[in-house]
Amino acid sequence: MKQKWIAGVGVFAVVSLGILTASGFQNEKDEKPRNEKEIQMYSDTDFAMDTVVMETLYTTGEDKNPLVGETLREVEQTLLSWTNENSQISRLNRAGGASTEVSSELLGYLEMILQLAEDSKGAFDPTLGEIIRLWDISGENPKVPGQEEVETLLQTSGYEKIRLEGKQVTLEEGCTLDLGAIGKGIGCDVIAEELQKQEEITGMILNLGGSSVMAYGQKPDQSQWKVALTDPRDVEGGYLGAIALKGGEFLATSGDYEKYFMEGGKRYHHILDPQTGYPVWNGLTSVTVVCDSGLLADGLSTACFVLGMEDALELLEKYNADGAFADEEHNIYLTAGMEERFELLKNTYTTKLLN
Ligand code: ADP
Ligand code: MG
Repeated sequence: MKQKWIAGVGVFAVVSLGILTASGFQNEKDEKPRNEKEIQMYSDTDFAMDTVVMETLYTTGEDKNPLVGETLREVEQTLLSWTNENSQISRLNRAGGASTEVSSELLGYLEMILQLAEDSKGAFDPTLGEIIRLWDISGENPKVPGQEEVETLLQTSGYEKIRLEGKQVTLEEGCTLDLGAIGKGIGCDVIAEELQKQEEITGMILNLGGSSVMAYGQKPDQSQWKVALTDPRDVEGGYLGAIALKGGEFLATSGDYEKYFMEGGKRYHHILDPQTGYPVWNGLTSVTVVCDSGLLADGLSTACFVLGMEDALELLEKYNADGAFADEEHNIYLTAGMEERFELLKNTYTTKLLN
């Protein structure tokens, strides 16, 4: 991914703006000191990682938003995809119990993921892909599967079936990796890393589907980045609150309202209890986490949804993360750190302070 942004700039400039001069995209230092250059804002909407990507960039240089979508699609295709047979995850899943060498990038992610699985006592489990597909919750034919089918798949799932030795990864036969719960968070981390190499970029807010957000740098007026929090029970998608972020912070939300189907008055959604293979029903409707890593924010929001509020608190503390928990009763419980950054937008909700 390293050369991508530098090489990619040329590609983008050629396709979109014939008027750029060669020096314009070679990033040459000109005579004008940097602080005298004006900061421009560029906003864009794209589609990647199965979701709408919203980008707002502040820079003294060119509009590099197109590279963001390009990079995210590349991460998906080369790393995370279940369907592209050349992705690293897909190759691992086809290995049939044999060990496979992975990139140091993926190894780093897997180490964090396994640590999170352990720290959450298995509430976060990256091996539930087959079970999620059995439910087909976001697919064409969502259905409640037979108990036996679920139990059979549970036997081959479980994070303890993943082994790391150096750069070699081994999945026990029948076990597969599904990084669906953290893919967008990884995307945010990769973009944040790229931005750090782009001196002319002073700030960016990147929002993947409303559920994974990266804040980078600052706005020219120094005001805080703000992210809207969806009301899980508002069919029109209204917001219940807003959360302020500083540059370098990441936010993720896991909820029971984006991917689900109703049957017999029950809401079958896409966050599964790894113990049972069934959706989690504990009264929570969404969990939002803020911390300094996209992968961890994303993974923690899923883990905390599964754990429920009480057990989640300890996990959040360990990762130095802030949390907001919305429930069916229209309460929104906030950790102390979250309370400082939270603004209630709907008076049908009541905020309550945790710990
Ligand atoms: P979204 O991807 O919509 O933002 P989440 O981050 O909560 O939502 O991830 C949900 C996805 O994670 C599911 O679609 C499934 O692929 C996977 N998943 C479901 N339950 C778990 C779990 N307990 N641990 C890890 N991944 C899970
Ligand atoms: Mg998540």
